[in-house]
Amino acid sequence: MKKKLVLSLGSNLGNRYAYIRQAITYIEECFAAPCVCSSYYTTPPWGETEQAQFINMALYIETHQSMDKCLTQLQAIELKMGRVKTKKWGPRSIDIDILFYEDNQVITEALTVPHPHMHERVFVLKPVCDIVPDFFHPVLKVTMKNLLRELVDDSMLFCN
Ligand code: ADP
Ligand code: MG
Repeated sequence: MKKKLVLSLGSNLGNRYAYIRQAITYIEECFAAPCVCSSYYTTPPWGETEQAQFINMALYIETHQSMDKCLTQLQAIELKMGRVKTKKWGPRSIDIDILFYEDNQVITEALTVPHPHMHERVFVLKPVCDIVPDFFHPVLKVTMKNLLRELVDDSMLFCN
């Protein structure tokens, strides 16, 4: 049975739209399946606020691959796209985070799934609600649309 994989993508360096589109193409190639994509959102930077605005979006894909294999492949895409490790929350050409892998829960050094902060961030939840509003958070036991409704994050978000 294929697993449901929900990802969050972000870029705030260079041609951000091109980076996002390229990442989607690579993800579809490497998982050999079509993605369901959210709208693109322009969002203020998080954490390190003295940097360019982000483009954020979310995507849904189904895969036979294990969660670890998904992470390895997504990190390979980040590297192929020239992501350079700078500081945490610093500027990046592409960031690909795993939000959900089915209803699995893991906490290891390499991976925390569900993503531990996704429910606190409108720039993650809003695009996720575009594509899987009824997805059930396996830890918080609430749907994405209800998480968004209850979210207290008044940062501005522009749908592109
Ligand atoms: P952030 O996305 O928080 O800005 P990075 O993209 O630099 O941070 O990722 C740092 C590390 O986070 C990666 O090396 C990866 O192993 C780890 N990581 C932990 N959980 C996840 C997840 N759910 N999705 C992607 N990476 C994760
Ligand atoms: Mg990341």
